[in-house]
Amino acid sequence: MSLQTPACVSPIPLFSEDSPTAKQLADFVEFVGVALRWMDETGTILWANQAELDLMGFTREEYLGRNIADFCVDQNVIADILRRLKNDERIHDLQARVRRRDGCIGYVAIDSSAYRENGRFVHSRCVTRDMSKERQMAEVQERLAAIIDSSDDAILSKDLNGIIQSWNRGAERIFGYTAEEMIGKSISVLAIPERADEIPDILARILKGERVDHYETRRRAKDGRIIAVSLTVSPIRDASGTIIGASKVARDIGEQKRLSEVHELLAAIVESSDDAIISKDLNGIIRSWNRGAERLFGYKPGEILGRHISTLCPPAVVDEIPNILERIQRGERVDHYETKRLTKDGRILTVSLTVSPIRDSSGVVIGASKVARDMTERDRQETALREVNAALSRSNEDLQQFAYSASHDLREPLRMVAAYSELLKMELEGKLGQPGEQYIGYMMEGALRMEQLLDDLKAYTRVSTDDSHPTEVVNADEVLDKALVNLQTAISESGASISRSALPEVRIFGVQLEQLFQNLIGNAIRYRGREAPRVEISASRDGNAWKFSVRDNGIGIDPRYKEQIFGIFKRLHSKAEYPGTGMGLAICQRIVERLGGQIRVDSQLGHGSTFYFTIPV
Ligand code: ADP
Repeated sequence: MSLQTPACVSPIPLFSEDSPTAKQLADFVEFVGVALRWMDETGTILWANQAELDLMGFTREEYLGRNIADFCVDQNVIADILRRLKNDERIHDLQARVRRRDGCIGYVAIDSSAYRENGRFVHSRCVTRDMSKERQMAEVQERLAAIIDSSDDAILSKDLNGIIQSWNRGAERIFGYTAEEMIGKSISVLAIPERADEIPDILARILKGERVDHYETRRRAKDGRIIAVSLTVSPIRDASGTIIGASKVARDIGEQKRLSEVHELLAAIVESSDDAIISKDLNGIIRSWNRGAERLFGYKPGEILGRHISTLCPPAVVDEIPNILERIQRGERVDHYETKRLTKDGRILTVSLTVSPIRDSSGVVIGASKVARDMTERDRQETALREVNAALSRSNEDLQQFAYSASHDLREPLRMVAAYSELLKMELEGKLGQPGEQYIGYMMEGALRMEQLLDDLKAYTRVSTDDSHPTEVVNADEVLDKALVNLQTAISESGASISRSALPEVRIFGVQLEQLFQNLIGNAIRYRGREAPRVEISASRDGNAWKFSVRDNGIGIDPRYKEQIFGIFKRLHSKAEYPGTGMGLAICQRIVERLGGQIRVDSQLGHGSTFYFTIPV
């Protein structure tokens, strides 16, 4: 066995082949598991053993005679080695990267020194150790350290006495202490008094080889804040499997806790809502179902979750569902949509739906929430109200018809009573004596009064029965002039003074406005006190209406009766005190209310009255 020397390299005198020791040494050097190499001053490879060839992946023929620089990744390292060898420096544990035959980069550590004979550089002795595995391990370690350091969680380790051995940046962030402050200190620095027993308990479990998983507790940060954390503590073992400490991951769950509280609150709101609140996915499958939904539709969550929303649709409206889902998918919202839905027991409900898209955290629509309000009761009430109104207006019409024909038909017999009592009076004039003549006088008065009542009743019913009262735009000033002409006698007899401001144009049937003025001013004069009447008429704008007022200085009205006086035939005084039929204000109210306005009085006994009425613009 001899060391081969390629033809391109000058043979090097090795061991004498004759010596058995030399032979064995040559064999040993060749096959020893350490990579060995000789180079000349310029880095040309003169010789390499099998381990070196194995390390680099080349055959002897490919490797010997080449310059080491061809295999080195870092040229400056090679230049440096050659320079130092020339200067007789010993090189120890120099890290370098080599390129193997397969193109892979290997990490090596080189020891080298120059071999000289008589001062002449013969070769460099190079011992190369493959460091790739160590390097890989170191990289893994670095990566792990980087992961630990970049973690949001606090990751720390402690020995079995609870003394902190390592402390990452997450721990620094959560607890506020730096690694310098904490390494070497006891973990109990973080404990809160009411949970002081916890740490020894956890250590005891770790000693038994147990792991503590997602344990929720509280710890104190450097600034005194108490923080909610979730702990996972695991034993750390040495190579022999003996437990030597514990690693601990602590997660700050304060925000999570707050969020879950908010979620709970929202869930409680949804649960307690009177409306049915349902969510479904984009396929229309029901995913949540609150108590309101259970009440409205009759299904328990267990019966309906996972079923299609069309379960709630009567056949006539089933086609709506794809349409609604399509709109939701486009991100649209469906608002107050009235439709029909079917209950578990087969009843059809009128519901008002509001359906809104549900989005995930990235904004993608993943389903829909639906609020359904039962409108069945409202529908029922509306129908009932319509029926009542119809019945009311029918009976109102009947009543008006009756009042109208009564006022009409009674007039004939009344005229007879009046005419015959007149005749009787003429016939028996002077023959009947005092009481008899007085009685005939009462009869005639009664008939006259009855006629007045019938006239007023007719006027009242005509306000609403007579359709020949179209509204028109009238100048209230001109209408007031006419009313005052009609009242001329009363005004001059009472010595009343009338003051008025400019009045607007209003939309009303002119004759009715005239009647309003006439009744109110007539009353103002009639219900006067000792002084001569003073009447003021004015109008002002009040929102969407004109507000007229008729103020007097008369006897006033007890506020207790301020509603009653607008009733039919309602009077506060006897005919003897003040003549009247009790119909004037009833007619006024009817006119005003038919136009959508209002009439009321402000008054105190003895202090005059002001009547207000409004006419919508
Ligand atoms: P009448 O005047 O024919 O009795 P009204 O309906 O016009 O009927 O009035 C009802 C009642 O309201 C009157 O009887 C009177 O007691 C009271 N009243 C009306 N206007 C006035 C007024 N300006 N001042 C005092 N009392 C009034």
